Amino acid sequence: MSEPATETPHCKVVLAGTIAKGLLEETQEGLKKLDRKPHLVGFLASADPAARVYAEWTGKTCRENGFDFTLRELDREDLEDALLSANTNPTIDGIIVYYPIFSSRQDQYLQQIVDVSKDVEGLSHRYIFNMYQNIRFLDSHNQKKSILPCTPLAVIKILEYLRVYNTILPYGNRLHGHTVTVINRSEVVGRPLAALLANDGACVYSVDVNDVQQFHRGQGLRKRRHEVVELPGWTLENCLPLSDVVISGVPGDKYKVPLHLLREGAVCINFSSERNFSSEVKEKASIYVPAIGKVTIVVLLRNLLRIMQNRMDAESE
Ligand code: NAD
Repeated sequence: MSEPATETPHCKVVLAGTIAKGLLEETQEGLKKLDRKPHLVGFLASADPAARVYAEWTGKTCRENGFDFTLRELDREDLEDALLSANTNPTIDGIIVYYPIFSSRQDQYLQQIVDVSKDVEGLSHRYIFNMYQNIRFLDSHNQKKSILPCTPLAVIKILEYLRVYNTILPYGNRLHGHTVTVINRSEVVGRPLAALLANDGACVYSVDVNDVQQFHRGQGLRKRRHEVVELPGWTLENCLPLSDVVISGVPGDKYKVPLHLLREGAVCINFSSERNFSSEVKEKASIYVPAIGKVTIVVLLRNLLRIMQNRMDAESE
């Protein structure tokens, strides 16, 4: 998670740590409303070194900011029982599982057995359904906000910090007029991110290794939620020149976004654990965010506070 701080006179490099700081202040306000420290438990059954780094950073951020964190390292065959037991353990407020574990559909099965009231990652079916359907609250009085998946929400918090979200516009339409390219369409990051940005009013080009899809709410944002249109024959050559925001999350160190296609003054955000933008991006971008991990962890703590609040509200009803 090392981040270069160099910038050119015409490109502002914004570091995740700076953005995380403001969000952490918000979580401190949330903590004051609780009668005890929230307890997050992380389950590490993954051989992926990135998962271990993420787990270590979660622990550090928790301890430095008034949250309890326990890391449980276990054999992947024992994970299912351990999650079922954590679901009913009243001393555990939130559960995070570090993926990939089996790198198959079994990972999705494990995601679904985490109890919805302890799912800080926002990967439970109910939360994902609400997100794709653009249903923002869990209750009919619009008091309890639904939980959003951490990494896509971290990107949104970054776009809010950068003022790409225009607060003059009504909530829910604040990306109207923006064109965003998201390079990655995984089920945990790229696809939910494209849907969230389109639900907020953007025209989004979702690019993966096979094709390009457009996510949008139609002319004048007439539709209540986004629709998806296949764009046969489209590539980055079509999308990048149109996009004022480019978000990339391609795994591996070989991939680089073709900078010659980038629109002058674009906002560029990298969420891959490798650098998807070469340093020359600063010659063309107006704002460059080289990594987002620190924001993702704070969003996780924010989600933890929210599910605790939702649970307390449910208990007092
Ligand atoms: P994944 O392997 O599930 O998905 C990769 C996606 O990238 C797929 O949609 C694939 O089609 C697309 N892709 C691959 N090569 C491409 C190419 N050449 N052109 C266009 N698209 C291409 O991976 P994932 O779980 O989404 O993770 C992606 C990256 O994001 C990893 O580096 C991971 O470590 C990182 N990540 C970061 C955070 C964070 O908070 N910083 C969180 C989750 C994942």
